[in-house]
Amino acid sequence: MTGAPASAVAARRWLERIRALPLNERVRVMNVCGGHERSISMAGLRGVLPPQIELIPGPGCPVCVCPEEDVYAAIRLAARREVILVAFGDMLRVPANLPKNEPRSLEQARAAGGDVRPIASPQEAAKIARANPDRDVVFFAAGFETTTAPVAALVAEGLPDNLSILLSGRLTWPAVAMLLDSEEAGFDALIAPGHVSTVMGPEEWRFVPERHGIPSAVAGFETDSLLAALHSVLTQHLEGRAVLDNSYETVARPGGNPTARRLIAETLDVVDATWRGIGVIPKSGFALKPRFAAFDAVRRFDLDLAEARKRAGQMPPGCDCARVVLGKIYPNQCVLFGKACTPRTPIGPCMVSDEGACRIWWSSGIRQ
Ligand code: SF4
Repeated sequence: MTGAPASAVAARRWLERIRALPLNERVRVMNVCGGHERSISMAGLRGVLPPQIELIPGPGCPVCVCPEEDVYAAIRLAARREVILVAFGDMLRVPANLPKNEPRSLEQARAAGGDVRPIASPQEAAKIARANPDRDVVFFAAGFETTTAPVAALVAEGLPDNLSILLSGRLTWPAVAMLLDSEEAGFDALIAPGHVSTVMGPEEWRFVPERHGIPSAVAGFETDSLLAALHSVLTQHLEGRAVLDNSYETVARPGGNPTARRLIAETLDVVDATWRGIGVIPKSGFALKPRFAAFDAVRRFDLDLAEARKRAGQMPPGCDCARVVLGKIYPNQCVLFGKACTPRTPIGPCMVSDEGACRIWWSSGIRQ
C-alpha cells in the first residue's frame, strides 16, 4: 500500500483551500473543546495557517472550571475514614486554596490517608460501591455533557445504597452564550464541539449564528474535520453570512443521542452553576432531581460549604486560568506559564488537566 491516509489527503486539501481564501484582516476563531485544542496544537495548525487566522482556545475544559467549593467538598469527604472517594484521574491533582497545613488536592488527601481512587468510567464507581458494601463511596463527577450523560445513565439504572454523587456537571453552550452577551466576546467565528453535539445535538449551537451573527461549524477531532469547519466559518465570514454548518455530520446527527438526552432529562435538573474563576453562569450546571436527593453527597454527609462558597470563583494565587478559559489570553501569556507552572508543578487546573489549554500548549512544545 502506498500514499497518505484519506484523512491526511483531505486535510491537505482543506488547508490549501483555506490558504487560497482572500483573508486581509484578522479573524479570531474560538474552539470550545479540549479535544479540538489538542488536535490543533498537536498538528501544529497555528504554524501552517495564514497569519490572519487566530485560533483561540475557549471554555473547553471541565476540570478547569470545576469550582473551588466542589473540590473543597471532595477533599473534605476524602478525609472521612468511612468514605471511598472516586473521581476521574484529572481531578485528583486539581488544587484548592486551602491552608498549607491541610491537603490542598485529592492527591494530597490520599497521601494524608484518605481512600481516594481514580476511575475511568461511572460504572467503575458502582462496581467499587458493590465491592465495598460496608463503606460509603462518593463519586466526584465533574464534566461536561459527554461525561454527565453516563452519570445520568448510572443514576437511572439505580445506584447502590452506599454510593452517592458529588455532581459538578456543566453545560458548554451557556459559557459561550455568556461570552457573546458580554461587551467583548473576543471572537469572530466558532468551531462548535463535535463530541458534545453528538450527545445533545448540533442544534444547541444555532443560537450563535442566529442570535449573534457569528459563523459557526461543528467539527470532529480529526484534522480534516477541523480544517473543513474552519474553512466553512472563514468562508461565511468573508461572505458576510452566518449559519451553523456541520463538518461532523456522520457522527453528530440532528437531535444528538436521544437515549442520552432522555436519561439526562429524567434524572437531572439544569441549574445556575459556578464556574471556577468566572462566577455563576445561569442554567449552566446539572443537579440531581429532588427524587434522587438521597444520593446527593452534600446532603448525605451534611457538608457545610459556607466557607468554600466564599471562594467559589477563585483561582490559585497568580493563576490566570480564568482568562485562559474565556479566551481572553493565550496560555503562554500567563506570567507563570513554563516558569513556576509546568505539568510537573501545576499551579492552576489548566495545567493539570489533559483538556486544559496550558497543559496542551506545553505538551505540544510551546514554551514562550
Ligand atoms: Fe494557571 Fe498555570 Fe495556566 Fe498560568 S500557566 S494560567 S498558572 S494553569
